[in-house]
Amino acid sequence: MENITCPYCWQKIDFDLPGYSDVSIELVVDCEVCCRPITVTVEWTSPDEEPLISAEAES
Ligand SMILES: [Zn+2]
Repeated sequence: MENITCPYCWQKIDFDLPGYSDVSIELVVDCEVCCRPITVTVEWTSPDEEPLISAEAES
């Protein structure tokens, strides 16, 4: 489990981190607090390092 900050209500939201991929992964997570969809981008630079996780309001 990883957590992100909801871009709408600024609460911390847990989500299941997908496994390593050599391409960035975009997924939509519904905020548990305000129920709005958050676009989460997960990007790895190397399988041995923590991925970069960014959360944005769905456009
Ligand atoms: Zn929220």
